[in-house]
Amino acid sequence: MDKYDVIVIGGGPAGAACALSLMRHHNKSVLLLERSDFTQQRIGEQVSHSIFDFVDYLGLSPEDFGVDCFVPNYGKISYWGSDIASSHHSLFTAQGQTYQLDRAMFDETLLMAVVERGGTIIPRCKQIKVAQQGSVWQVQLSHPAQGDLDFQSDYLIDASGRQSKLGGELGIERTVTDQLVGVGAFIHHPQRVFEQQQRIESCEYGWWYMAGLSKDLAVVTCFTDVDLMKEMKLNRQAIWNTHLAKTKAIAPYLQGSHSTQARLWVKQANSQYYSSAFPERFVAVGDAVASFDPVSSMGIGFAMSSACHGAHALISAEEGVVQYYQNDIQRIFDEYCEIKDRIYQKEQRWVGLPFWQRRALFASLERSVVSV
Ligand SMILES: Cc1cc2nc3c(=O)[nH]c(=O)nc-3n(C[C@H](O)[C@H](O)[C@H](O)COP(=O)(O)OP(=O)(O)OC[C@H]3O[C@@H](n4cnc5c(N)ncnc54)[C@H](O)[C@@H]3O)c2cc1C
Repeated sequence: MDKYDVIVIGGGPAGAACALSLMRHHNKSVLLLERSDFTQQRIGEQVSHSIFDFVDYLGLSPEDFGVDCFVPNYGKISYWGSDIASSHHSLFTAQGQTYQLDRAMFDETLLMAVVERGGTIIPRCKQIKVAQQGSVWQVQLSHPAQGDLDFQSDYLIDASGRQSKLGGELGIERTVTDQLVGVGAFIHHPQRVFEQQQRIESCEYGWWYMAGLSKDLAVVTCFTDVDLMKEMKLNRQAIWNTHLAKTKAIAPYLQGSHSTQARLWVKQANSQYYSSAFPERFVAVGDAVASFDPVSSMGIGFAMSSACHGAHALISAEEGVVQYYQNDIQRIFDEYCEIKDRIYQKEQRWVGLPFWQRRALFASLERSVVSV
């Protein structure tokens, strides 16, 4: 049976960054187990300039990712809280420059660096089972080509994303604050050069979002609550198209384009975090430990930062460092809730309708908890 210092479960940005951090700063042997074959389209692409601090910490430079991986974003046009468009230029905001990531290029560069530095990655892992015996983690899985596999490690990391089941299996509680989903499509337009900016527009049942990914490709997503999606059948292409056609900021811009996939994708996009203590020699990072409403554009940056901090906390010889890490996650999540509430409260036109009513109610509940 092969033994590693650390086994990381999940090969998104958080898992890859964790593996790189452990090898570079702690000289650990790492096995990364991924469920997919890495060919699925990754969602999420807006990042802030701070991503480069973590890239640097991992011993990489922006150039390692290829010339078009980080495309400067000039800002966004929004219809939010008003029928009048407003534009926000990144040059004039406190957050500074933002970027549109080429997700495939970004994720692949991180994973290639893991392999080049001596890490082991096994894709297509199914039915991963973990158990802790004394100070050793036992990990079993089934692989389509290699059959049943067994591994051991001193430490275990959950980087398996928003839908992680691992924490639940280990008895860690998760606090879930809403039921947001994104229903989206990748849109191709042979003649259009998509601008380097986002378009965002609120509506009665949620909000629409569009971002150019490359000159002729954009992503368009409708965000709503899962029950509203089902009630309105928003996951059906024809109905989604009908509602998209009513948007002011997005529909006119997409005329003559077509979807690159036969079906719409539906992704969980809710806010949640692991709210009870981790077992010994374990941390969760990225979306697995806390995930955020995409209105905040926090996901990928947080995946990288929590991976670097989580890896350091896990390996630290000092007692209580993992608990400090968890306290930090709680603090970040609380601050994020305040920012998210402020964003949603800017829209007052449909406060009586379920999507907006739920967000107003949640904000007032949070305030009453704070004031107790
Ligand atoms: C619609 C939408 C739009 C978004 N837009 C943005 C944005 O513009 N900017 C931004 O910063 N963030 C955005 N996000 C969030 C962003 O995509 C995530 O925060 C980010 O991908 C988190 O990285 P991660 O590595 O933690 O998880 P993931 O990227 O989800 O990676 C988890 C990995 O674990 C694997 N896995 C899952 N289960 C198992 C298992 N049991 N065993 C082994 N492997 C497993 C998965 O296959 C996956 O490869 C968006 C999210 C959504 C849903």
